[in-house]
Amino acid sequence: MHRRRQLAAQLGFDLERALMTVQEHGANVVTFHRRQPEGGQCVFSTDALATDVPGQAVVTYHADCFPLLFADTSRGVVAGAHAGWRGALAGVATQTVQAMHLAYGTSPDQLDVLIGPGICRRCYPVGRDIAEQFESRFGRVDGKDVRLDLAGVVRLQLEDQGVAPDRIRSAGWCTREEDRWFSHRGGRAGRFLSIVIAP
Ligand SMILES: [Zn+2]
Repeated sequence: MHRRRQLAAQLGFDLERALMTVQEHGANVVTFHRRQPEGGQCVFSTDALATDVPGQAVVTYHADCFPLLFADTSRGVVAGAHAGWRGALAGVATQTVQAMHLAYGTSPDQLDVLIGPGICRRCYPVGRDIAEQFESRFGRVDGKDVRLDLAGVVRLQLEDQGVAPDRIRSAGWCTREEDRWFSHRGGRAGRFLSIVIAP
């Protein structure tokens, strides 16, 4: 809690008003609104949160799963999402874009999206069972040694929704290869926070 307070002070957001996910590797999105502002809270059973309440922060937790940060600067709306393989398969990126459209009128081509640090495609071998689920939706899998490109899947989902390819940026940092990030599958055990703050 102390370190969170330090972080909030450094980044300049109010921890008491922050929205935090209690993630379940799904694709539920919950939206918060300035016409009916709510205080800080942990939102259960959700992997994405959006808000247009000025100054309100969205906090998500990650190890190898990717943080996705969304911003519609024309409307002052932001969203944060958590995408591991289950969430990606459930379409958390797709659902977030659609929820922002329904809740705030954000058109996908007005969105900027940052795909944060996560496990890269070289470092993420998956079993046949998982590979086949992706194969059926996202194309062919070749060979026996199957590796999952989660950031690539997320990018495809965003582009399918109409987000402009040049407005989707990928940090390109691998949590398994780089020691500064926490990782489930290698390196340091723990979780890091991803934060996006409404303007
Ligand atoms: Zn890697």
